[in-house]
Amino acid sequence: MYKSIFYYGAVKIAPTSNYLSSNLIIKVSSAKKAFKHKFILQKSVVINSLDAKDLKEYRLLAGNNNPFMEDAKTVELVFSEQVQDFELNISYCLRFKINGKWETNRITPNWTELGLYSPWYPYFDKALVTYRLTIDIIDNYELISIGALSKNKKYKLKHDMPTISILLLIAKKFLTIEDEPSYIKVRYPHHIKKDFAKFISIESKNLYQSLKELLGKPTRSDSIDFVVADRDKAGGYVRDGLIVIQNIKDYEAKKERYIYWLAHELAHLWWYKADTNSWEDWLNESYAEYYSFMVLEEVLGEDYLSKKIEEKREISADLPPIRDILRTDDKAYNVLYHKGFLLLYDLANMVGQDKFQAFSKTFSQLTEYDTEIWLNSLRNSFNDCVYNFAMRKLEE
Ligand SMILES: [Zn+2]
Repeated sequence: MYKSIFYYGAVKIAPTSNYLSSNLIIKVSSAKKAFKHKFILQKSVVINSLDAKDLKEYRLLAGNNNPFMEDAKTVELVFSEQVQDFELNISYCLRFKINGKWETNRITPNWTELGLYSPWYPYFDKALVTYRLTIDIIDNYELISIGALSKNKKYKLKHDMPTISILLLIAKKFLTIEDEPSYIKVRYPHHIKKDFAKFISIESKNLYQSLKELLGKPTRSDSIDFVVADRDKAGGYVRDGLIVIQNIKDYEAKKERYIYWLAHELAHLWWYKADTNSWEDWLNESYAEYYSFMVLEEVLGEDYLSKKIEEKREISADLPPIRDILRTDDKAYNVLYHKGFLLLYDLANMVGQDKFQAFSKTFSQLTEYDTEIWLNSLRNSFNDCVYNFAMRKLEE
């Protein structure tokens, strides 16, 4: 629906009072002309002013359609003419502590994490974004983000390459673990314990090397920054070269589980290009699972993995098809992570792991892809039999 969005302006954040205010000029480029356009924003939003050329009125509607953004409401813009590209001037403020369902995003004195789970800036459906922002954080807090960041009283944040979101991670002070020579940095808020960050640093370096041997250099970024978030729920996610992870206090007791999880997140540095809001996300998730299995055999042993595969077969027995599964479906996680993994795993056994990995490596380097492209590449690299097998597995 929306092609690209550019954000320009000033943001002010006060972690101690759970508060954010923003003055933005937003250049919107949409796919087609329309009288109505819409975006979403965190539900506590109070709009002070909103203006655009030919804008007749705007309406606030409860809720939105995005499965990941339950804490947001929709703002509908009604124009007097049909418009395709337009410039929006908006001033608004938000006040919230921790978002409801996922507990990922928050504005709190110890830890502020702002991304797309509770959209803190006007989010236009599926658009890639670029931005130039001034960010003023009250009380001299530190900021981590993706893009070029500089500080001189206020932060200046710039990202000229289209990306999926504007991410802000804020703590009073961050510490860094960086072993030389290294392309992996682990950063963590100074008030939490160091040991989990240290564990991440050691394990991820080995896993990253193994993945690179199989898939080549990641197309995403050369270096990787981990940030340990000060929360013990909601897991992690990857944005450009940055991996955000929850702080796990009892990781010693569940080491295997976290190494497994690390491998999956690292594999997303290669597997991220399919649409994450639809069933196409199976390509990202199933491939991340598949490659984490390929590098974990050495680390966790064959038994651990056979047991995992067994579990995946049990879970997948009565699941709906991968094709067209809604991302909002209760079963979406199992379908995308387990059933999809088994499709790839069985396919690889059919054509030979080496051949399948050579095919997948080339496929991962395409600038964009979806299932249609994947199926056609499969037919070209192998034969109709392999293509039909994959096709059937997507639909059964
Ligand atoms: Zn994943």
